[in-house]
Amino acid sequence: MIIVLRSGATQEQIDDVVKRLEKLGFGAHVSQGVERTIIGAIGDERRVNLEEKIGVLPFVEKVIPVLAPYRLTSREFREADTTVKVGDVEIGMGKFVLIAGPCSVESEEQIVETALRIKEAGAKILRGGAFKPRTSPYSFQGLAEEGLKFLAKAREVSGLPIVTEALGVEELPLVAEYADMIQIGARNMQNFRLLEAAGRLHKPVLLKRGMMNTVEELLMSAEYILAQGNHQVVLCERGIRTFEPSTRNTLDLSCIPLVKMQSHLPILADPSHGTGRSDLVETMSLAALAAGADGVIVEVHPNPVEALSDGPQSLTPEQFYHLVREIKKLAVVMEKEV
Ligand code: PEP
Ligand code: MN
Repeated sequence: MIIVLRSGATQEQIDDVVKRLEKLGFGAHVSQGVERTIIGAIGDERRVNLEEKIGVLPFVEKVIPVLAPYRLTSREFREADTTVKVGDVEIGMGKFVLIAGPCSVESEEQIVETALRIKEAGAKILRGGAFKPRTSPYSFQGLAEEGLKFLAKAREVSGLPIVTEALGVEELPLVAEYADMIQIGARNMQNFRLLEAAGRLHKPVLLKRGMMNTVEELLMSAEYILAQGNHQVVLCERGIRTFEPSTRNTLDLSCIPLVKMQSHLPILADPSHGTGRSDLVETMSLAALAAGADGVIVEVHPNPVEALSDGPQSLTPEQFYHLVREIKKLAVVMEKEV
């Protein structure tokens, strides 16, 4: 931490800060300029909240952190990109992975048909929710364990690994029995007990950014999972709430290169929830590839008009075929393997 004192701070006040730092187990490096005195606190600043302990003193102007508050998630901890393995599929390391499937699992036929069609198009992982986080308690909530069984059937028929959401700690073991990758959704990004429970599993986790959360908060949530020993985490930008009403959310693609600078974890984009509009999904998938994402997760339904959730943002299998063709062209330029 760097502590900047107000102009005119006395020697007594400088000594006071130094003494307080030493009491908290920090070394202090005082640098007296012509107008200001700056004190460098030497020690692990993640251990003590110096903004609270020192920042409140009336003669301290500001306390500036030097280190990111997350550790295991940071580039400093691990310089090389992390690769996460889901079944036989690798996410990261110069690949651009396509994950596709319906918002909700609705029937065996629906999920099996979708799995076969997206696989034919080039998708590598099947998505589909059996436990759905819905704004209204009267909306379709998902088929629960029956949905997981249909997903397992679709995996058996298609050979594609599956990613599906766990809504709470209670159902996590059940979801983990079936899933190759556990999704923690936007609404649960800061459900810290769920993050810790997922961290104790030996299963990859797809952690979606909360619609009202900062990039730093996303990385802190990932830290919860890594801190429990599970380093198999893939991040996902799925759009944040802004004042713009013409799209469901605002897909914050600038966070992708930003996360890449700050963290070694792979990051995907979800242009379906990010825009809420099927007519924007292909363009924003291409933009995600150009921005350096490690893949996209896209909602595909055999008949979007009849979908029980998120129909307006779901692609038909034909539209998904088209998307994959365009992605493959751009991937050549971006030197990514699809
Ligand atoms: C989903 O993937 O269907 C979903 C509910 O996503 P999010 O948590 O991003 O809203
Ligand atoms: Mn959805």
